[in-house]
Amino acid sequence: MSDAYKVTETTRVKRLAKRGNYDREVVHAILDEAPLCHVSVVVEGRPRVLPTLHWRSGERFYIHGNSKNGLFQAMRAGAEAAVAVTLIDGWVLARSAFHHSANYRSVMLVGRFQEVTDEAELMAEYEAMMNKIHPGRWEQVRWPNPVELKQTAMMAMDLVEVSAKVRVGPPVDDAEDYALPVWAGVVPLRLEKGEPIKDTTPHPLTA
Ligand SMILES: Cc1cc2nc3c(=O)[nH]c(=O)nc-3n(C[C@H](O)[C@H](O)[C@H](O)COP(=O)(O)OP(=O)(O)OC[C@H]3O[C@@H](n4cnc5c(N)ncnc54)[C@H](O)[C@@H]3O)c2cc1C
Repeated sequence: MSDAYKVTETTRVKRLAKRGNYDREVVHAILDEAPLCHVSVVVEGRPRVLPTLHWRSGERFYIHGNSKNGLFQAMRAGAEAAVAVTLIDGWVLARSAFHHSANYRSVMLVGRFQEVTDEAELMAEYEAMMNKIHPGRWEQVRWPNPVELKQTAMMAMDLVEVSAKVRVGPPVDDAEDYALPVWAGVVPLRLEKGEPIKDTTPHPLTA
């Protein structure tokens, strides 16, 4: 398999093309680090977007949710979806208002989600999802029962039409503006895990 995704007319980055990236490793790293994505589908002629958790196994991208989720119903009927996965790494403060920006790593996918119905894939992917939320979690928790599995749908898209876009580094100002007495640089932003807070709710059946 090639190390890069094939560029299509849809996935070719046009604006600031130098920030475009199709390298599988870059795409995978962004997908794996980002906790959530936004999935967009046109439902009955109107655009809809869904913020949701996602995870990746190899060359497949997964989301899950209530079986009756409106976007999933449209996907089952064959609607194409677009997905945006975004990590913001910093505010870029330029000397002019115009050149303010953000440092980021993002991925966009376009394609069709298919419902995952194979039981072995379902269980393996719930394990992958749990372990993305918290490594080793799957081995500690009660696994989904048949009723819970029925209430939930899992949708998967093969990574085919994929692009990444990455901005790094300081602001890029107009040459004459570097003389202005204005602070310029990058304010880093990061998403961090905090100190865990234990659930102390009493056992509802014995309290
Ligand atoms: C955190 C963040 C903040 C941003 N803020 C702004 C902003 O304020 N204003 C603004 O105009 N743009 C912003 N962008 C960039 C924005 O996502 C688009 O890349 C840009 O607006 C160009 O859009 P376009 O439709 O002209 O792209 P085009 O270059 O025409 O898009 C063609 C194809 O390139 C790929 N592509 C384009 N953008 C991305 C991307 N971000 N990630 C992965 N693939 C991509 C897609 O496959 C797309 O179909 C931001 C991006 C991020 C991640």
